[in-house]
Amino acid sequence: MNPVFLKAAPVLEKIETAGYEAYFVGGSVRDYLLGKDISDVDIATSATPMEIKGIFPRTADVGIEHGTVIVLYDGDSYEVTTFRSESDYEDFRRPSKVDFIRSLDEDLKRRDFRMNSMAMSKDGRIIDPFGGQEDIRSKRIATVGNPLERFYEDALRMMRAVRFASQLSFQIDGETYEALVSEAYLLEKIAVERKLAEFEKLLAGENSFMALKIMADTGLSQHLPGLAGKKQELISFAGRLDSGLLSEERWALLSAGLGHDFKTAESFLRSWKMPVKKIRQIGKILYWLQYRSVQNWTLESVYKAGAEAARNAERVLAATGDDSADEEVPVRLYASLPIRSTKELDVTGNDLIQWFNKPGGPWVKELLGQVENSIISGHLANKKEEIRGWLECNQS
Ligand code: ATP
Ligand code: MG
Repeated sequence: MNPVFLKAAPVLEKIETAGYEAYFVGGSVRDYLLGKDISDVDIATSATPMEIKGIFPRTADVGIEHGTVIVLYDGDSYEVTTFRSESDYEDFRRPSKVDFIRSLDEDLKRRDFRMNSMAMSKDGRIIDPFGGQEDIRSKRIATVGNPLERFYEDALRMMRAVRFASQLSFQIDGETYEALVSEAYLLEKIAVERKLAEFEKLLAGENSFMALKIMADTGLSQHLPGLAGKKQELISFAGRLDSGLLSEERWALLSAGLGHDFKTAESFLRSWKMPVKKIRQIGKILYWLQYRSVQNWTLESVYKAGAEAARNAERVLAATGDDSADEEVPVRLYASLPIRSTKELDVTGNDLIQWFNKPGGPWVKELLGQVENSIISGHLANKKEEIRGWLECNQS
């Protein structure tokens, strides 16, 4: 068995010894059967959260109202969730009420897709009541039960279907696909943060091209922030998306593909409720992308942009099909810079005040800026005495 499961097996054993059932469930079982790497294993159990807390000395409550306890064991942490059924879905979102139950089958039934509704015992026995293994064999994504009902219960599952298509290169089963088309409008009810999390995974998937096409073809993208009426733009963005791009670069590419510049992109990105820091980084990439569409990198511009943003912009430019793009160019220029920031200047404002024997004022900053520019462009060495000499010749 996979070493990740072997390491976690004692957790199941302890729960079983205490008289309850426990299984590996969800994505880890699916990925194991797919022969993919397993990151984190989720555990489902018949024990209640309080019972789990009674078994393990080290636990953390994160989602206890949903039945989840984090168990810390042998240097790792595991999400242990009580078997549950979900009822009374409100507004097509998460269930408003969670009932803890003692039956594994009922727990598997509330899961989204057949490939995600399998369990595995500690000795590797697969429990697969809905044909998950068959779906994995035929590379198929299908809901557990009627897709119309399942999407009505929780519309986010529609985005999950498409992001799994992107990550696994699976096909969405006919009925499930049809339900994406007819129920797409339900996405309006879903919190943007949840949509963003799934969309990020979709963009990072190996088959993002197909997935974005599905988003556009089914009409799901009509109900995503800033993408209504942008089907063509989305499809051409899909064709440019390169799996090697970083998340910020993908969003810069998408923003540019939608016709945003670094100023108008901000409200688009804010409508996704993205973290402010990330919005700023994407804005910076767009700014330098625009710069690159009119001129090449210079020592001055890589100094201003910084190696990171310059490289990001160059990679986005390459994705847009611009043959002149070469991320090594700004990297090389940056490496040859005599200084990387104002802090590295061999003079300070105080030096200037002393040398000129004048009270401080805006002139200090202005002059330091001139010194900085001359150093960056290679006209002046970053040495105190030389800077002084240069100032005396130029400022008298
Ligand atoms: P990943 O590798 O991306 O973590 P995953 O399948 O583990 O994939 P999670 O979001 O971690 O996905 O969810 C864990 C499991 O919980 C899923 O495999 C599925 O069984 C169930 N699940 C998650 N979200 C839903 C949902 N919206 N509706 C029903 N079941 C869900
Ligand atoms: Mg998971």
